[in-house]
Amino acid sequence: MKPDFEKGGGLLSVILQDYRTHRVLMNGFMNEDAYQKTLDEGVVWFYSRTKGRLWKKGETSGHIQVVKEMALDCDRDALLIQVDPKGPTCHLGTASCFGDSGFNLQTLEEIVARKMDDPKEGSYTTYLTEEGTDKMLKKCGEEMTEVVIAAKNDDRQELIDETGDLVYHLLVLLRNQGVSLEDVEKKLEERHGENLSYKVRGEIKEW
Ligand code: AMP
Ligand code: ZN
Ligand code: ZN
Ligand code: ZN
Repeated sequence: MKPDFEKGGGLLSVILQDYRTHRVLMNGFMNEDAYQKTLDEGVVWFYSRTKGRLWKKGETSGHIQVVKEMALDCDRDALLIQVDPKGPTCHLGTASCFGDSGFNLQTLEEIVARKMDDPKEGSYTTYLTEEGTDKMLKKCGEEMTEVVIAAKNDDRQELIDETGDLVYHLLVLLRNQGVSLEDVEKKLEERHGENLSYKVRGEIKEW
């Protein structure tokens, strides 16, 4: 299927999306030449309306956008491209032109799920998945210990890093056991209803 360049006066609206996180990165325009170059080279080319010329995204910054998948919309006047961005997509230095955040634990959970369901050579998540439950348990224990040590040492940066490691490994383990963040959120919400309580040695305490 070919894009409809006529409707946009020769230009196609193009949305770049991070193929790993699904984050919307930027909006740009392609004429037929830019579209063809993108197909030929597997990296994103645009037509710059301000410069009035073809523009390879990353030509000066080096932050090229490697094409992973492309999809036209219902009436073929807009193109969605899943990319592997080699550096921040926005020229202002942020990953996305639509602001810097959007990444949260749910995003990570989705990434982990995709990686666990789709084994890839060289992927650490694939390695953990293939090693199985015992390896995941061992890693969770190790990372928790590293969190404890970082906190004990009052090393704030190390604490942040190790908590990141722990949360990632925990998400792998949870998925392995068929538990989602939503399940955990539901449980927390229930407790919120009970005045934010938790159990200490079997006794309900208020948070
Ligand atoms: P680059 O294509 O990354 O080498 O950037 C070259 C120039 O293109 C920048 O200086 C900007 O003028 C423009 N540019 C690059 N990325 C974007 C973007 N995401 N949104 C708007 N303009 C951009
Ligand atoms: Zn459309
Ligand atoms: Zn931008
Ligand atoms: Zn660690």
